[in-house]
Amino acid sequence: MARVAVIGAGFIGSSVSLHLLQEHGKSVQLTLISESFSPDTTSDKSTALMLPFDVIPPSGGDGIVEGVGDPEEWLKDTISHIRGLHDSPEGGLMGISLIHGVRALAEQPTTGSLPWWHEHAYGYRTLSTDEVKSYNIPSGYPWAESFSTYVVDSRLYLPQLLSKIKALGGNTLHSKIESISELTSKYDIIINCSGLGSAVLASDSTVYPVRGDIVSVHAPWIKEFTILESPTSITSVIPRPNDVLLGVTAIPHEHSTEPSEETNQLLIRNGTALVPSLKTAKVLTSWAGLRPMRSKVRLCIDSSYKESVVVHCYGHGSKGGCFHWGCAVQVGKLLHSAIIEKSNSN
Ligand SMILES: Cc1cc2nc3c(=O)[nH]c(=O)nc-3n(C[C@H](O)[C@H](O)[C@H](O)COP(=O)(O)OP(=O)(O)OC[C@H]3O[C@@H](n4cnc5c(N)ncnc54)[C@H](O)[C@@H]3O)c2cc1C
Repeated sequence: MARVAVIGAGFIGSSVSLHLLQEHGKSVQLTLISESFSPDTTSDKSTALMLPFDVIPPSGGDGIVEGVGDPEEWLKDTISHIRGLHDSPEGGLMGISLIHGVRALAEQPTTGSLPWWHEHAYGYRTLSTDEVKSYNIPSGYPWAESFSTYVVDSRLYLPQLLSKIKALGGNTLHSKIESISELTSKYDIIINCSGLGSAVLASDSTVYPVRGDIVSVHAPWIKEFTILESPTSITSVIPRPNDVLLGVTAIPHEHSTEPSEETNQLLIRNGTALVPSLKTAKVLTSWAGLRPMRSKVRLCIDSSYKESVVVHCYGHGSKGGCFHWGCAVQVGKLLHSAIIEKSNSN
């Protein structure tokens, strides 16, 4: 049996754990170790729309991965996994819904082509000028696209992943790991999915927080999402099964998650300007989360460890939701032979 430790119980660590248990069953003895579990991870603070709105294609420049994997495959695998759950009796329990809406940009994309992710959005099309007006889009946003995609309420989704992990025999341990070396004598395989914690655990000074604030309101009549993006701000109104999220800030290098009443009021004002009926919506709660940003997602074996096989999977920034299951599949592929080898030798 291969002894496996996964560090981190956000989107990434939870899905890596579940995928390994589903793939290898009793050949792995898996422990999910985390300083925090749902509802206290960054993943719980996510909007968790299943699309990455990046302008740069994953293959553009020198890529967005350090190590192995193709982000378009990660996205495809994640959407396919979420679609399967959405269409099953579990979909509601896991907080997954399929929503339609509009995203408008202050600057028309200069590439002249459709965004790289458009094939993974259902019914994607660009809107005419008249259609843009009909959506109450302000005049500074001349270009818009409409599509449907999934949104996941991670506060429902993550506890369900955890239940499945336990049902398959996985253990959980509430603990802060100070160094990966602490674990090498006890585990054959260690997978670091600690997000921002990797600044310490992987001695990686290139991971940094990008704070995102969100206000959650009760407005069940809102069925469509609306997103406005300019180079300096994002206004989003995102309906989920049990609330509507008004967002969102993106403040680099901000480490605090202290609530800001001023920011919340701004998000409510911006959301209401976009969707006036939100004026009567009751505020439920608000929060701030820290996206684990890095110029590239790091998904690779760390060959500096000799005693155990150590894999890093962190730095998903604003895309950990829409890449999570695909990354779990990728980690599974990377470790497949090591797990078989260890489970045969122990
Ligand atoms: C406001 C906001 C909106 C977002 N919207 C979207 C979106 O629409 N779509 C999308 O795809 N993504 C979105 N994201 C990004 C997404 O939420 C993140 O990329 C994702 O949550 C990262 O997941 P993770 O598992 O890597 O990190 P985390 O959720 O931070 O999990 C890391 C885990 O590691 C644990 N840990 C850390 N250090 C240690 C240690 N030393 N010892 C033990 N455990 C440790 C933590 O306790 C935690 O459990 C958004 C994020 C925010 C904040």
